[in-house]
Amino acid sequence: MRQQIYIIFFVLFFAVACAKSPGKIEPINTPTATLKFLTTNTKTVTPRPTLTKLSLTPTLPVKSATASPPTATFDTLRNTPPTIMLHRSNENFDSVFFLKELVTILKEKDFMVITYEDITKQPDITILEKGHLFIITIDDIGLQAPLDPSIEQMIKILEEAGYPAVLGIITEGKLPDAKTAARLKKLADAGWELAMHTDTHVNLNQLAQDMPYAARLEIRTCREKILDATGVTANTLVLPYGDNVADLKILYREKVTWTVGIGGGNKYRTSNWTYYVGREGPSGNALETFNIIIERFNP
Ligand SMILES: [Zn+2]
Repeated sequence: MRQQIYIIFFVLFFAVACAKSPGKIEPINTPTATLKFLTTNTKTVTPRPTLTKLSLTPTLPVKSATASPPTATFDTLRNTPPTIMLHRSNENFDSVFFLKELVTILKEKDFMVITYEDITKQPDITILEKGHLFIITIDDIGLQAPLDPSIEQMIKILEEAGYPAVLGIITEGKLPDAKTAARLKKLADAGWELAMHTDTHVNLNQLAQDMPYAARLEIRTCREKILDATGVTANTLVLPYGDNVADLKILYREKVTWTVGIGGGNKYRTSNWTYYVGREGPSGNALETFNIIIERFNP
């Protein structure tokens, strides 16, 4: 008798279990169903988003669940790294002494000195390292002449500090100075940036008003001569007198990535095809200048 009762119970239990269809799922519009759907589609995502987070965004489940790996999107408007503009020493200004002091400040404050090319290679560095970056530029390096002794000393100071600089190169003349060309090539190999400063150090803005093609030729010739002498393709244009062309198509056609002036350019937008960035020259001693530059570029 007891065995019969057990059998009846077992048959009843089996019948109830079978009554549920094997493929049956809960209504699609319930949160539980959405979660199950998303869970199935998030298997390859690393790191895997939490279910709670996904259930809060039911309108884009498939897209967000299949994107891999998730990358952060940053604002396209960036702060230009604080940038100093230097030249060789003259009777009124000792660039070597100034640079020595500036390097000491940058070391003390743990700044990372980079080039424009570094930003091209790693565009988000200006967000990720914002507030810790600095750019040092030295203008008027003649490719066809021996390096000025003060420029040589500045280069040595930076080499010892392990800092690269951006060198604005003028290429006027027929033949490069072999020693200068070799030195520049070595610096480029060490991560320094060789930038165009036009062939004849001309005011591009004025030239382009009457002869836009001549302005393009100034850029192109400069790039070709740097390439011939050093094997390096320069993509940054340091504007003589900081004076930019009004028609930016000139820069576009000559494939200039960074256009470096003086005024303005405290910020740049990554979605543009050429970036105009400004710089600051020395005002007072290195610390005074440093403070002015930081305030200007990192307000
Ligand atoms: Zn210049």
